[in-house]
Amino acid sequence: MALIVQKFGGTSVANLDRIRNVALRVKAEVDQGHQAAVVVSAMAGTTNQLVEWAREIGPLHDAREYDTIVATGEQVTVGLLSIALQNIGIDARSWLGWQMPLKTDEIHGAARIMDIDTALMRERLASGQVAVVAGFQGLAPDGRITTLGRGGSDTSAVALAAALEADRCDIYTDVDGVYTTDPRICPKAHKLDSVTFEEMLEMASLGAKVLQTRSVAMAMRHNVNLQVRSSFSDAPGTFVVDEDSIVEQEKISGIAYSPDEAKITIQGLPDQPGIAAGVFGQLADQHVNVDMIVQSASTDAKKTDITFSLGRVDMEKAVGIIEKNKEKLGFSGIDSTQNVTKISVVGMAMRSQPGVAKTMFETLAEKGINLQVISTSEIKISVLISSEYTELAVRSLHTAFGLDED
Ligand code: ASP
Ligand code: MG
Repeated sequence: MALIVQKFGGTSVANLDRIRNVALRVKAEVDQGHQAAVVVSAMAGTTNQLVEWAREIGPLHDAREYDTIVATGEQVTVGLLSIALQNIGIDARSWLGWQMPLKTDEIHGAARIMDIDTALMRERLASGQVAVVAGFQGLAPDGRITTLGRGGSDTSAVALAAALEADRCDIYTDVDGVYTTDPRICPKAHKLDSVTFEEMLEMASLGAKVLQTRSVAMAMRHNVNLQVRSSFSDAPGTFVVDEDSIVEQEKISGIAYSPDEAKITIQGLPDQPGIAAGVFGQLADQHVNVDMIVQSASTDAKKTDITFSLGRVDMEKAVGIIEKNKEKLGFSGIDSTQNVTKISVVGMAMRSQPGVAKTMFETLAEKGINLQVISTSEIKISVLISSEYTELAVRSLHTAFGLDED
């Protein structure tokens, strides 16, 4: 007998038929004698609608009320799934974030999980009751509802699996696993049987939408036995595993792309100690996440330009913050664009194989694609390119690294 956490995303609970289908998947585990805690998202599209309403009624809305609004989507699905389970003879009960409670910090809209009290849930699970848990939501120290950021129910599921010391955490979604790249723009993409936590972490943060980045980091920390699989088929999915369980890899695992990027260049900054700290300190204080950075010296070495990439949603805010500090920072101009995409090659193989950067840059050069910013980590190389080349870049890299399905 095992304790299993199952997580179903928005498309898997998009309507009542699909919720009934989810109930059958849960029942299959219960019938095998397993204990099941089931984390669900809101019905597809619901959270978008709720966010939209919150924005419409007040563009600068109070974040606590934003959470009150957007957390409701999951409240609906836990109730519906619990009833669907009861209808097929399964004892089930819904749990909202505050009912466990799943305690978070007070950062509304992007709260971090501090602690999950699982004592009562363990008792109920042991008695054979299925726990149907609202993803995405928690309880702040002041007693108000928080949410974990978009896509946060993956993190709810992994955190719950860690807290319950679950044997497995199965993330059910609308694709049958993790792919070498996005099949929608590269028809030759194929499913990976397994991927390491490190690779998955890079791929998730680079735009592979299948798992929320934070959930992967958490799974890695707690060594949660994670599988991404389809809620519409019985085919095995992709296992996200510890590095040790994969024998030496020869191939790059995937090509990721993130279209949600923007680029800002600050021109003519005085080239002296403390300038980068000044710029990025201001942005960090206002919770703007910066990604790739390059600094280029001017010819007379007295001035410098700094170019960096960041999430598209933060671009205007970042430009505003920098402009507000123009006098203090002493720069001459600022330039921003959303016409950029980040393309990344990811794989543990990079650690043991030289020449990955060479292949990547040559492939893109052959296609006449200009690299605006480059950044690397131990298992990833990313470049920022003009958005119109996204498909061309992804497809040619997929071929160049031998990932095309034959
Ligand atoms: N319903 C939330 C969202 O759409 C959380 C999730 O689905 O993971 O962001
Ligand atoms: Mg999701």
